[in-house]
Amino acid sequence: MDAAEFRKRGKEMVDYIADYMETIDKRQVFPDVEPGYLRPLIADCAPQDPESFEDVFKDIEKIIMPGVTHWHSPYFFAYFPSASSFPALLGDILCGGIGCVGFSWAASPACTELETVMLDWLGKMINLPEEFLAEKDGQGGGVIQGSASEATLISLLAARTKMIRRVQSEKPELTEADIMGRLVAYASDQAHSSVERATLIGGVKIKSISSDDTFSVRGSALKKVLDEDKASGLIPFFFCATLGTTPCCSFDKLLELGPICNKENIWMHIDAAYAGSAFICPEFRHLLNGVEFADSFNFNPHKWLLVNFDCSAMWVKNRSDLTGAFKLEPLYLQHHHQESGLVTDYRHVRLSHQFEHLVRQDERFEICAEVILGLVCFRLKGSNELNEALLKSINEAKKIHLVPCHLREKFVLRFAVCSRTVESTHIKFAWQHISQLATDLLKTWEKNHHQQKQQ
Ligand SMILES: *Cc1c(COP(=O)(O)O)cnc(C)c1O
Repeated sequence: MDAAEFRKRGKEMVDYIADYMETIDKRQVFPDVEPGYLRPLIADCAPQDPESFEDVFKDIEKIIMPGVTHWHSPYFFAYFPSASSFPALLGDILCGGIGCVGFSWAASPACTELETVMLDWLGKMINLPEEFLAEKDGQGGGVIQGSASEATLISLLAARTKMIRRVQSEKPELTEADIMGRLVAYASDQAHSSVERATLIGGVKIKSISSDDTFSVRGSALKKVLDEDKASGLIPFFFCATLGTTPCCSFDKLLELGPICNKENIWMHIDAAYAGSAFICPEFRHLLNGVEFADSFNFNPHKWLLVNFDCSAMWVKNRSDLTGAFKLEPLYLQHHHQESGLVTDYRHVRLSHQFEHLVRQDERFEICAEVILGLVCFRLKGSNELNEALLKSINEAKKIHLVPCHLREKFVLRFAVCSRTVESTHIKFAWQHISQLATDLLKTWEKNHHQQKQQ
């Protein structure tokens, strides 16, 4: 493909994507394919002779689209949103065009400098304390990670290094292995699985802290476990607080937890992967109060700020905690400039309350956690089996798409307002659909239940 053909094909691709976006509501949100559907549709190995671009292009509708889950459909209410917007798509094209790898300042100065300044902007938009900003000569600053999971891992590893150095400075007789064996990290029983995975990779223990009846971790719950662990010779070093938990969007009590972590020299990382974007709105900023106690903070513009995957924004108070923990400098990376350094759619919140209102009007259902942002956790009053059957019928009908979670022992349906184009009518449609499936299910369920009783 030469530049002339690229111009032509590029315009066709833009048209294809614009058409896809404009008509996405006509596509079935979840595909019909079975596992292994794709392999028989394509050749066993790469062809010796090239195919025309037209033929390759046709394969998008023939082979790929039948197996796509349409995350940007207004009928997609699963997981959390994955952001996408036309400006972000154009940005991705430019990025691909420049095609540089910005691993150091000299590798492409605009990369590092733009990243640093944009993260200052974003930090100011959510009113992060100044210590987290790079500005002209601050100690802190932001850095883009691929995912919130990586941000958690990076902060855990930095915290581990910091604590090992601290302990060794007091007790030089202890080896790194001695100390590692006693390090403990903590997170809510509602925390994302990436926190536990970070401890597996980091080779340290983790303990989960019980959340209260609003699914939030309280200071007292953390304090109790810390006291027990210190008494038995363990070394607490890391606490991951969650703002907007994945199962039900609950918020840990930063103002209680922060001072405890600071007093105990425990690194506090805040995972606000989904909720973070909402803190731009003055009416939600109070949910971030207590961030001043944290060592690191992270949220995902790629979830709820119209920026395509992957873009996870992470800030630290001390950049040197990160650069110091992972410093390796092969000669080819050395350079004398070594110290290298949006609008969003909160209609989602209004729409989640609309859905909540519809659920609350139906006595067969219950709301399972406070609705704060764009996620509603709900279920039929009754057994887990009944709710599993309801979710199965919803996802088999493929009109809308949802995923479940467990809250305590309960099987709960999660309704996350995801698409940028979702409207009140889609919410109403989704509720009417769920409610009808519940009616159908309850009929057969009661009959079967009745029969079982008679047998
Ligand atoms: C979505 C989510 C994650 C995972 O985000 P990735 O960027 O996919 O790693 C982590 N924590 C919370 C609270 C989340 O909601």
